[in-house]
Amino acid sequence: METTREVDLLIAGAGPAGMTAALVAAIEGLDVLLCEKSDQVGGTGATSAGTLWIPGNHQSKAAGFNDSAAQADIYLGALIGEATNRELRRAYLDTGPAAIDYLEANSAVQFLPCGVHPDYRSNMPGAALAGRAIMPKPFDGRLLGADFRRIRPPIREFMLLGGMMVGKADIRPLIDRFRSPANFIYSAKLLLRYLADRLRYRRGTRVLMGNALVSRLYYSLRQRNVPVVFDASIAEIVGGKDGVSGARLRVAGKEVLVKTRKGIVLATGGYAHNKTLRDKFMPQPVPAYSMSYEGNQGDGVELGQRLGAAVAPERSASGLWTPVSITIRRDGSKGLYPHLMLDRAKPGLIAVNSAGRRFVNEAVSYHDFVLAMFESHKTAPTMPAWLICDSVFIKTYGLGAVYPGHRNIGAFVDSGYLARGETLEALAGKIGVDGAPLRDTVARYNRFAETGIDIDFAKGETELNRFNGDPAHKPNPCLGPIAAAPFYAVAVWPADIAVSTGLSTDADARVLDQDGRPIPGLYACGNDMASVMGGSYPGPGTTLGPAMVFAWRAAMHARGINRSAK
Ligand SMILES: Cc1cc2nc3c(=O)[nH]c(=O)nc-3n(C[C@H](O)[C@H](O)[C@H](O)COP(=O)(O)OP(=O)(O)OC[C@H]3O[C@@H](n4cnc5c(N)ncnc54)[C@H](O)[C@@H]3O)c2cc1C
Repeated sequence: METTREVDLLIAGAGPAGMTAALVAAIEGLDVLLCEKSDQVGGTGATSAGTLWIPGNHQSKAAGFNDSAAQADIYLGALIGEATNRELRRAYLDTGPAAIDYLEANSAVQFLPCGVHPDYRSNMPGAALAGRAIMPKPFDGRLLGADFRRIRPPIREFMLLGGMMVGKADIRPLIDRFRSPANFIYSAKLLLRYLADRLRYRRGTRVLMGNALVSRLYYSLRQRNVPVVFDASIAEIVGGKDGVSGARLRVAGKEVLVKTRKGIVLATGGYAHNKTLRDKFMPQPVPAYSMSYEGNQGDGVELGQRLGAAVAPERSASGLWTPVSITIRRDGSKGLYPHLMLDRAKPGLIAVNSAGRRFVNEAVSYHDFVLAMFESHKTAPTMPAWLICDSVFIKTYGLGAVYPGHRNIGAFVDSGYLARGETLEALAGKIGVDGAPLRDTVARYNRFAETGIDIDFAKGETELNRFNGDPAHKPNPCLGPIAAAPFYAVAVWPADIAVSTGLSTDADARVLDQDGRPIPGLYACGNDMASVMGGSYPGPGTTLGPAMVFAWRAAMHARGINRSAK
């Protein structure tokens, strides 16, 4: 790359937000440069589930699901409050479906309706049970040829056999592969495809979820010959509060000046791995773990602040959370397993704090689960909390990284991932919890399992709870006995999957200064932008939906197209 260059729009960060901004700007005819700090695209987006929360989207409507932005507005008003981010929310709801349709019409970024996928506070007014979430269509990584190596892989804990992606719909046929000819054929096809892939690629090319989203974005950028410069980090912005005219990049050890005619889009993924900003914006004690990509070090937020940009929200509540357990891999390295939706809601699992007491409805969303950990920690140590189940549960539903039907649970005990006890008292001793309260807690919970009513925490009483429970289990799909020895426990810690404090923007993703005035030519999207949800977590796709919609709005604004109206 030459040492000085001039483009219309410079985009920093090749995650879902940055790639969307670059793609839309290129489709609109702008001369674009996308710089990416690492040698791969995808960021955290590559390891995500890839769900987008787009109220009133047309993909779900076409599949027969009825939802509307007006209902979502009622829901967000109740959840977040009418005063917070009203204008941005309106812009998001008004143009979300149009942004998605635009990508579908002009690129390989294609979506499917998720169908039934309840909002995370499914009992609030305006919440939807179905039709609000969409997901990327699976992608064939072979279309990228040798450039498939440019796609950041999913987390190892979400792949089988060292490199095979498995979606939610694959799990049952794989577990029950010997139970029906259809399941056997389905599983055999997956395996054969994977084996063939491994002859040419380092992992399977049947790409799903967030990995499909970033693959589709990158594939679309390549189709339009949009320049993506790897190992290129945005280091300094040229300009000030009155406007920006370029940036200095660090490209493979050299400095490159990029002059910009229309502006710069900051999409460097937020501050998750910046200790100073974590200490400043996150709740105390600041969680030690993050599921965000380790290259997300707050570069965009700090660059914006240096120009006088405002940051919001400043209260120490930043973070969208999940409980994680710490896996110990065969090579001795450690990983994080997010307990999103496969185990906690199932019948026969409780979560306890160090006092051996339940502190939460275990089937709430991962974000709400961690908020309850923070609350419980004020009175009894709850970092970690413990998920407790019995031997029938772990065989039937799995527990974290132990998938259902696993034949060697002992290996997880030996590695220290799981604690096991022949009695509840023995288990309690191993995890440093008092035996008597744990025994009482389980006895009380087992009575709820019989009646089907959890009078302490109402597990199983919302649509969201039941969606992730076991519909075949009666009387309550989320309550079952913990009775068959041996008993198991896994420690879970709070970790962020995204941060919610970022640069303040207007509805076109223009970064605002301390007086609320846009800094001309400076945009922020994805986790560099302050969350439009004000730190709340309304439903599946809460960060990727806004990341892509506001990236689209930023690119349109840079092009000179006003999207205030629909
Ligand atoms: C397990 C898991 C599941 C998730 N599932 C979902 C989901 O289903 N739906 C949802 O909405 N959200 C989900 N999320 C959260 C979501 O993945 C993130 O919020 C989203 O990826 C943020 O997008 P982004 O483009 O802002 O950042 P990222 O995807 O993290 O990309 C940022 C990019 O910027 C690059 N970068 C950093 N610094 C610089 C620099 N100085 N110069 C140039 N480049 C730089 C990084 O290398 C990276 O490639 C999930 C997260 C996890 C961990």
